[in-house]
Amino acid sequence: MTLPHDPLKLRQLARQRYDAHRDVARRLGRRPPRDLDAVIHGWHEELFDKVDCLECGRCCRALGPRVLPRDVQRLASFWAVTADHVEKTWLHRDEDGDLVFSMPCPFLGDDNSCEVYDARPRACQEYPHTDVKKMHKLLGLALRNRATCPVVFEIFERLTVRYP
Ligand code: SF4
Ligand code: SF4
Repeated sequence: MTLPHDPLKLRQLARQRYDAHRDVARRLGRRPPRDLDAVIHGWHEELFDKVDCLECGRCCRALGPRVLPRDVQRLASFWAVTADHVEKTWLHRDEDGDLVFSMPCPFLGDDNSCEVYDARPRACQEYPHTDVKKMHKLLGLALRNRATCPVVFEIFERLTVRYP
């Protein structure tokens, strides 16, 4: 199995497969199979064993993760600066009033490593949200991530086969 790593190819595939993926997300969201979490979590483990995030880094370039006050505090401690300094230097408010990084993330290294890995925001720690409980509640969010993350795209492809 080859995961689509090329960003343009992945975006194109995500567009082509949108209807099928949206339909399965709606169906499973309404009537989640009992094994849904276990199945998706198993695929998550398997696929992230094969995908090297350091060769990708697309989420850190494309998606502005929401940064909560406790994330700001953690970053402030990491850099030994004030929370105010963190906000003014690296964050801005989006149209919903949430604090977010400007993209690409200021802490993304040239080799796709995260400069603040141990202090990264919770949204970064949990991305792409395919190993959390009650997956059926997150399929709508996951649907939006298919065009960015090849693992999420592959999980949706598998869902359409496993739960036709
Ligand atoms: S803080 Fe780290 S993990 Fe989060 S977007 Fe920036 S580089 Fe990526
Ligand atoms: S988009 Fe997915 S595969 Fe790429 S770096 Fe982010 S989590 Fe890893």
